[in-house]
Amino acid sequence: MSTPVLRAFDLTKHFDATGGARVHAVENAHLTLERGRIVALVGESGSGKTTVARLLARMYTATSGALELHGKPVDVRARPRRDYHRAVQMIFQDPFGSLHPSHTVGYTLRRPLLIHGHARGRAEADGLAAELLEQVGLTPASDYLGKLPHSLSGGQRQRVVIARALAVRPEVLLGDEPISMLDVSIRLDMLNLLARLRDEQGLALLYITHDIASARYLCDDIQVMYAGQMVEGGPKDAVINTPRHPYTRMLVEASPDPAHRLGEHASAPYDEDDALGEPPNLTDPPAGCRFHPRCAFAMDECRRAFPPRTELSDGHWAHCWMHDKGRGHELATPLRGLA
Ligand code: SF4
Repeated sequence: MSTPVLRAFDLTKHFDATGGARVHAVENAHLTLERGRIVALVGESGSGKTTVARLLARMYTATSGALELHGKPVDVRARPRRDYHRAVQMIFQDPFGSLHPSHTVGYTLRRPLLIHGHARGRAEADGLAAELLEQVGLTPASDYLGKLPHSLSGGQRQRVVIARALAVRPEVLLGDEPISMLDVSIRLDMLNLLARLRDEQGLALLYITHDIASARYLCDDIQVMYAGQMVEGGPKDAVINTPRHPYTRMLVEASPDPAHRLGEHASAPYDEDDALGEPPNLTDPPAGCRFHPRCAFAMDECRRAFPPRTELSDGHWAHCWMHDKGRGHELATPLRGLA
């Protein structure tokens, strides 16, 4: 097995809040990104997904934990080096705010090509910029190079954002809800573009979403995050078809896509708020498993300590005391009575 491109171990981020409080945004997160594979990081708003991406992009300094790029340790406390940013690129949710309004598409793409030494002059940079536009499906490229962002649609802007990320020849793309602000009619095209970049360029991708259906469509593996903690992960079909953490089961059951719902609740009306309840306040998170106030299976142990990781089968794992206490089989039945 080849060395993963990027790995995170025990990555933790606490933010100082007003009044001396601390926001415990991410705790002990583990994540592995491999060449030619897409990992989806799913969870509700505020679960810490974006913070994980920003830690991996080194936009935030980790409170503790470690990163490895190509198996080599990265000093997470030091100022990031340019070669790290060249290898790890982020795509933001908002294609409208991601591009400078007075820079043409051509300028936006030439700049990273020249800064990172991939082009030696304007003519070569123009040629490479045209190739990038073709890679992301903006053809003929000559129609786009002179355009300003305001004359592009949301989908076209997001393609330019992806082309700009590709201009530095990265090995990892971190997509923070990259389709959520796009028109529904073009989301599938964007997912297909990301899949093509994985397949043709062997990129390692992290796809952050709260949408189980798009995660299932695009990704190879899924990791589930709840209130700053990674709670379950593994190959996508295992995680979605046989979730082994009560929170994952709740997310899948609440998915608006009927094909991805479980058991006897498959025909129940969908109401995400009713189904999911309220996530905890991360300035004072519940001790132990942070899901315990909402969990129908909670035991005393759950309130005391975060559960260890249980390896289930074929790369599928979960952090839930049910497995440690020999009650894992109860999670194979349809859920009832969650808050
Ligand atoms: Fe529920 Fe306990 Fe498992 Fe957390 S560890 S999900 S509270 S059973």
